[in-house]
Amino acid sequence: MKKKLICIECPKGCSLDVDIENCRVVKVTGAQCPKGEKYAISEIEDPKRILTATILTKGFPLKLLPVRTDQPIPKARIADAMKAIRKLRVTKRVKTGEVIARDFLGIPGVSVLATRDLEMLK
Ligand code: SF4
Repeated sequence: MKKKLICIECPKGCSLDVDIENCRVVKVTGAQCPKGEKYAISEIEDPKRILTATILTKGFPLKLLPVRTDQPIPKARIADAMKAIRKLRVTKRVKTGEVIARDFLGIPGVSVLATRDLEMLK
């Protein structure tokens, strides 16, 4: 099987032709540097994404706090992640970059971070 990908590791956006056998990458052409092959292997064999979402707040004028994971998580777990996010509530002030949840989804080292301040209006 063949698949075309655009490498997103840098602004050049190389067009990659990827040969796949049994869900494994066997050949990558079109990359202008080694990152392209690495990207193709990751994207085909173990795709991951940074999750961005919002979490409900309680007791604040801002009802939804924007958050993101600090590392990419497996794409196959995005639905689980959204379910987990929907169960979270923020009940205290937080600053941008503050950790809302550690070892998110039981993945060691993956945290959910606030991407804006949550404060009471003055
Ligand atoms: S293969 Fe290398 S040069 Fe091409 S887009 Fe990816 S990182 Fe950039």
